[in-house]
Amino acid sequence: MKSRGSDPTPAIRMGVYERDGHRCVSCGRHDLTFQHRQAVGMGGSKHRPRLDQGLAACGTCNSRYEADLHQAALRFGWKVPRWVEHAGLVPVFVPAEGRWYRLAHTCARRDHVTHAEAMRMMHEVYGDDYVEGAGLRPFPGAPMGRAA
Ligand SMILES: [Zn+2]
Repeated sequence: MKSRGSDPTPAIRMGVYERDGHRCVSCGRHDLTFQHRQAVGMGGSKHRPRLDQGLAACGTCNSRYEADLHQAALRFGWKVPRWVEHAGLVPVFVPAEGRWYRLAHTCARRDHVTHAEAMRMMHEVYGDDYVEGAGLRPFPGAPMGRAA
């Protein structure tokens, strides 16, 4: 495959896979792809991603983040809207572990944060548009029911 400007360097890719335990953050499978948390291409960033801008995800989940898992991906920090300046401000939830993590951007490291701390981080980035238990509103001010 031809290398693009937005592709991770081999070191970043390996760092992200190691940080995430060589498992898909969503489903735990091992056939990994580098998942860009923020959209690239077509007006997206042409810069090589940093550690906090990437996740280890299997090919299936990676493509589902743009489809039926889109809402979940925003809710759990697997995807971050382009306008968010620092992806590292958005925590990541790993369902298999039932834990939230904050991703470092200078080293391949993730730190466990409590649910309350993760919600505080989400609200700091998204304000009232992040609804606990439901995720991010599709557009500012849109009504949203709380999920079970
Ligand atoms: Zn997966």
